[in-house]
Amino acid sequence: MKKIINYVGGKEVHCSKNFLPVFDPSKGEQIGDVVLSNDEDFSKTIESSKNAFSNWSKTTPLKRSRILSNYKSLIEKNIDSLAEIVSTEHGKTLDDAKGSITRGLEVVEFATGIPHLLKGEFSQNVGTNIDSWSVRQPLGITAGITPFNFPAMVPMWMYPISIACGNCFILKPSEKDPSCSIKLAQLFSEAGLPDGVLNVIQGDKKTVDNIIQTPDISSISFVGSTPVAKYIYEESAKNLKRVQALGGAKNHLVVMPDANINQAVDGIIGAAYGSAGERCMAVSVAVAVGNIADDLIEGINNNIQKLKVAPWTDTDSDMGPVISKDHKEKIEHYITKGFDEGATLIADGRNYKIQGYENGYFVGPTLFDNVKQNMSIYKEEIFGPVLSVIRVKSYEEALNLVNEHKFGNGTSIYTSDGEVARHFTTNSKIGMVGINVPIPVPMAFHSFGGWKQSLFGDHAMHGMEGVNFYTKLKTVTS
Ligand code: NAD
Repeated sequence: MKKIINYVGGKEVHCSKNFLPVFDPSKGEQIGDVVLSNDEDFSKTIESSKNAFSNWSKTTPLKRSRILSNYKSLIEKNIDSLAEIVSTEHGKTLDDAKGSITRGLEVVEFATGIPHLLKGEFSQNVGTNIDSWSVRQPLGITAGITPFNFPAMVPMWMYPISIACGNCFILKPSEKDPSCSIKLAQLFSEAGLPDGVLNVIQGDKKTVDNIIQTPDISSISFVGSTPVAKYIYEESAKNLKRVQALGGAKNHLVVMPDANINQAVDGIIGAAYGSAGERCMAVSVAVAVGNIADDLIEGINNNIQKLKVAPWTDTDSDMGPVISKDHKEKIEHYITKGFDEGATLIADGRNYKIQGYENGYFVGPTLFDNVKQNMSIYKEEIFGPVLSVIRVKSYEEALNLVNEHKFGNGTSIYTSDGEVARHFTTNSKIGMVGINVPIPVPMAFHSFGGWKQSLFGDHAMHGMEGVNFYTKLKTVTS
């Protein structure tokens, strides 16, 4: 059984003898053990980061950028093996895994521009013979705590920019799919990153609490569920740390009566069921406005029947398993609850079995019609392949639904009316908005982040928000 341990100071190390099993979700079999780091592991990680910071923060941005360029090439060369690691431990299809690594790679690419991105501002003669300028300096040791659903991409939203800004970075990956982070760190070392600038520490809540409580770490970037995001935000503030904590989601896609229905159906199928719905930008609610509802439901249901649910090793697979046995049971429980609460169950993904993979954590694509605002399948994040359709009479009613929901990560509208599209972009209380685009994920040079209970903190991730988050502003008057 493979042992997944820490990567500290350019080496794989561990002190703790405590391990947690790691599973292949397609087979439901244990494939490894991940170390649950203890206080000694944590102290050694901090020591290594502290040793690395002094030189790294003085390394010129141009040299840092060249190492990032090497890193980009190495990730490109190794994308197939990285994707296999992701698919084996997460279960998503290889195409999905590769796509997500590419999105992370684009952040590395953005971060290679760091000499330009760190240029400050200068004002001559703010007073007679007095000039003023501002610079952005590194924070010190920064940390990232990441979720299971994007084991490569989400860490890559964080550490390339932090490191490009002259910081050291400690990554605490999800304990459910921890191997990819080790490979990513090894490739960075191979690219020329000095030992200790990027350390990976495996663990659970105990390691997270160590990260929060130590005065040696300046900032925390978190992505995961809302209750944990809230905890990280509150505790980080108590410990006087800079924090960005991205949480859960319930993304609505509004379909207007004048929408191109085929486009809307295609968009919904990919966004609701891709990656088995385990994306924070997955569409989990389709809002059908007016008389389009029957055609929309029929189109979605027809397309669901064509989806192939299979392990990632089957190259025709459209959708793999969910992450764990517990999570499969939780999703199936929500489906039962939705039915009991009175929603119409059009496609039922419970008890989904695949020959040869009977113990895999598969849930079939599930579709509910006539979902109401007070139902738990509407109010709560399910994080699985379950789509709720809610019928409304007007655009105003649809916009109210979007705005009244406690989450505010992403939303989209399908319409051919420019005025409605513009009204929606201006008035939706959501961080990322799409017009005739199902998953409006911003590119690396823009920034990713939701509103309301989907993000606690002032900064979104990557783009200039990332550069600002990972640096402190200094203004000089001379
Ligand atoms: P999670 O909150 O369970 O875990 C995230 C991280 O927090 C992991 O590293 C885990 O070890 C740690 N953690 C878990 N419980 C903890 C606790 N009690 N105290 C301290 N640390 C704890 O999330 P997950 O199940 O891994 O990921 C799925 C969630 O992440 C979904 O809610 C999804 O919407 C969200 N997500 C959000 C975004 C976004 O950009 N907003 C992106 C991806 C995923």
